[in-house]
Amino acid sequence: MQKIAVITGAGGGIGARLAYQLATDGCDIAALDINQQAAQVTVDTLLSLGVKATAIAVDITDEDSVNDAIAQVKVDLGLPNILVNCAGIMRSRMLSKMTVDDWDIVQNVNLRGTFLVTRAVAACMREAQWGRIVNIASTAVLGYAGAANYAAAKAGVVAFTKTLALELGRFNVTANAIAPGFIATDMTKNVALKTGTDFAQMELDQAAKIPVGRNGTPDDIANAVSFFVSEKSGFVSGQLLYLTGGPVT
Ligand code: NAD
Repeated sequence: MQKIAVITGAGGGIGARLAYQLATDGCDIAALDINQQAAQVTVDTLLSLGVKATAIAVDITDEDSVNDAIAQVKVDLGLPNILVNCAGIMRSRMLSKMTVDDWDIVQNVNLRGTFLVTRAVAACMREAQWGRIVNIASTAVLGYAGAANYAAAKAGVVAFTKTLALELGRFNVTANAIAPGFIATDMTKNVALKTGTDFAQMELDQAAKIPVGRNGTPDDIANAVSFFVSEKSGFVSGQLLYLTGGPVT
């Protein structure tokens, strides 16, 4: 069976790397992003790998947009049987300053969006009687001062993942989540910008706290996702993998 992978947030730092990894693994790739141009840049990097790839614009917070995007995946590539929910945003503020808009947009992209895309793709997986779902959570699930909205949304993603494992196991579909710590991407650069922190210094400060002595990279996440979506991981489901270069505290 040809593997057909939907990756949301595929125009972003981590999602683009995941698209490249899964294409290297032989999957056809549907690169979904609200930024279609960024998704197309990702797809252009895959052309030499000999797989099919398509860039599709989607706002994962919008039900119709999601359903249209997955319908387009079926037309362009066929029934998707791998899903990586990677699109996510932060709107960080301390609780006393957090607005309802800050709260809602972060829930909508990180949690509602993950639900909408998964519901649409899981229907295809049930039809194929095989599937792999990987959700990108965060160490924020342990608590994150200044980002209660993001921490709560990502904790919701973990509970959602465990529930998917329970409901979809009988269809040969596994669901797992990954919780990375700090990874250098536009997302973390924006956090530095917003807090007036020098990004290079932020990278050094973060690395100093990590037992293996370096920050995580999109490559580290790609290696884990590559395993979770493979045939080899068929008995691994409902798990949360912390990618943190050491034990989490
Ligand atoms: P990024 O900002 O580089 O990429 C996120 C992508 O999601 C962007 O391309 C953006 O256009 C897309 N996106 C945003 N809203 C969308 C929407 N409504 N519909 C469709 N696409 C949308 O961020 P990243 O660092 O690559 O983050 C990827 C994932 O990893 C996120 O879920 C993030 O929460 C998670 N994560 C990141 C870090 C980190 O340190 N960078 C750590 C832990 C978890």
